[in-house]
Amino acid sequence: MKILITGISGFVGSHFIEFLLENHPACEIHGTIRRRSDLKNIQHLLSRITLHECDMTDSHSLETIFRNDKFDRCFHLAGQSHVPTSWIRPIETMNVNANGTMNLLESVRHQNKNCRVLVCGSSEEYGLVEENEVPITEENPLRPLSPYAASKVAADYIGYVYFKSYGLHVIRTRAFNHEGFRRPEDFVLGKITKQAVEIGMGKREVFELGNMDAKRDITDVRDIVSAYWLTLEKGTPGDVYNICSGKTYSIRELLELVAKTAKVPSNVKQDPRFLRPADVPLLLGDSSKMAKVTGWKRRFEMNDTIQDMLSYWRAELKGQLAEIVS
Ligand code: GDP
Repeated sequence: MKILITGISGFVGSHFIEFLLENHPACEIHGTIRRRSDLKNIQHLLSRITLHECDMTDSHSLETIFRNDKFDRCFHLAGQSHVPTSWIRPIETMNVNANGTMNLLESVRHQNKNCRVLVCGSSEEYGLVEENEVPITEENPLRPLSPYAASKVAADYIGYVYFKSYGLHVIRTRAFNHEGFRRPEDFVLGKITKQAVEIGMGKREVFELGNMDAKRDITDVRDIVSAYWLTLEKGTPGDVYNICSGKTYSIRELLELVAKTAKVPSNVKQDPRFLRPADVPLLLGDSSKMAKVTGWKRRFEMNDTIQDMLSYWRAELKGQLAEIVS
C-alpha cells in the first residue's frame, strides 16, 4: 500500500511514520515537506521514506505529486496548527488550512480519484462549548473562536463537499489536543514539561504561562496516529469522527501533575503575553462513535505522556548545554 502524509516532518508526522513502520511495514511511505521545513523530527527515518517538496498553497506541485505517483491513502496533516499564530497571520492560516485542503482534494479528484483521504480537523472547531454540552459529540454546534478554528471548520466542510460532489473517499476527524515527545514548546504541555526540566536544571525559577483555567481533553500522539489509521480504514466515507480520551484537565492541573512528576516546585507566574484574544474554555470529547466503528483503544495514559516528554526535554536540553560548553 502506498501512502502520502502531507506535513510529514511535523510532530504528528514523525509519530505517524514510526507507527506505520512498526505496524504496517509493507507500506511505502511518502510525505510532503516545504523547502524550509526543519527535518529534525524525522532525521532518523529519512532512509525509509520518500519526500516531495510541496507547499499546500501551490496547486501545481500537488498535481505533479499525484500525477507521478498513485497513492492508496493520504493523511492530510499539513497546516498552520498554532492557535496564537492564527491571530497574527489570519490570512496565511486560512490559505494554508482551507485552500490547501481544497488544492489537495482537487489534485486527488483530477489525478488519483481512488485515493482515500483523511482530512484532519480539530476540537477547536467546537470552540465555545457550554458546560451542559460535554462530553462533546460530533453533533455539537461548531462555534469557532479563532482564525485557526474557522480555517479548520472550512477544511472540514471542504472535505464533505468533495465527498458529496465527486464521491471521493474522504473521512474527516476532529482530534482533541494531542501531546507527546517532540511536541515543541509552542503548545502548552510541551512548554510545561520543558520549563519543568529547566527548573530542575536550575536554568529558570518559575513556570511562565497564560490562561490556567482552560480545560483540555488530551490524548497521547501515538494513540492519535493509530486512530487516524483505523478511521481511514474502517470509517464511513463522508462521515466525521472525534478522537479524544474523554478526560479533561485544567492547565493548572497539568502544571501540578508535571511539577510533581519532575519533582520541582509548581510556582507559576502568569504572563499576559500568553493570553489570547479569545480562548476556548472547555473541551471534553466523546469518541465512542469512532471507537465503535474501529475498535480503537488508547494505550497511553497521561502519566506515560508526561514521563516521555520530560525525558525528551532532558535529552534535548543536555544536548543544548553540551553545545554551549563545547
Ligand atoms: P490549543 O488548545 O490547540 O490552543 O493548544 P495549546 O496547547 O496551544 O493551548 C491549550 C490551552 O493552554 C489554551 O487554553 C491556552 O490558552 C492554554 N495556555 C496557558 N498558557 C499557555 C502557554 O503559555 N502557551 C500555550 N500554547 N498555551 C497556554
